[in-house]
Amino acid sequence: MASHSNTKRSIAYIGLGSNLQQPVEQIERALLALDQLPNSYLLSYSSLYRSAPMGPQDQPPFINAVAKLTTQFTPLELLDQLQAIENQQGRIREQRWGARTLDLDLLLYDHTIMQTDRLTLPHYGIKDRDFVLKPLAEISPEMSLPDGSLIKDLLKHCPQYDLVTLKYDKNYHWHF
Ligand code: ATP
Ligand code: CA
Ligand code: CA
Repeated sequence: MASHSNTKRSIAYIGLGSNLQQPVEQIERALLALDQLPNSYLLSYSSLYRSAPMGPQDQPPFINAVAKLTTQFTPLELLDQLQAIENQQGRIREQRWGARTLDLDLLLYDHTIMQTDRLTLPHYGIKDRDFVLKPLAEISPEMSLPDGSLIKDLLKHCPQYDLVTLKYDKNYHWHF
């Protein structure tokens, strides 16, 4: 693969989701993998949230979170890295919006706007998903999208997915 990494540091927001094989542990493992990415630094991550599935309803609820990185990867290089982490955690691509061990969506990369076969930025679903907007608002309360819309305003008007915030206890466990 040709490398176009440069020394410029960009800010990327990643949406994490899992509803198979111990979803909380899948998200924790994925956060660790993001923390260990080369040319990148994990700046912060949100609480974990539980959400009702989109699409097919005959599947378990999802655990979601959002992470914020600085990275020297280009957007497509970062997507490659995210898909490699999904594969490491046993992602099998089957039904659209079906159950999965791990989904990593590149939500935002600086204020980049792009649309190619492999990558749309910002991620097309941000405005319609409370399980993305709520954790984004938690880690970056004043942030806006490239079109100027404020995350906290979008959150007031978006569809609801029965979002529940998990609590982090003294024993380093997430629970409802
Ligand atoms: P959704 O995209 O609605 O959240 P999904 O996450 O289940 O659904 P996937 O099967 O994980 O969809 O991804 C399908 C394709 O979307 C990927 O192969 C990838 O190339 C493409 N894609 C386009 N834009 C993005 C993005 N911003 N982040 C991640 N994947 C993207
Ligand atoms: Ca997704
Ligand atoms: Ca995805």
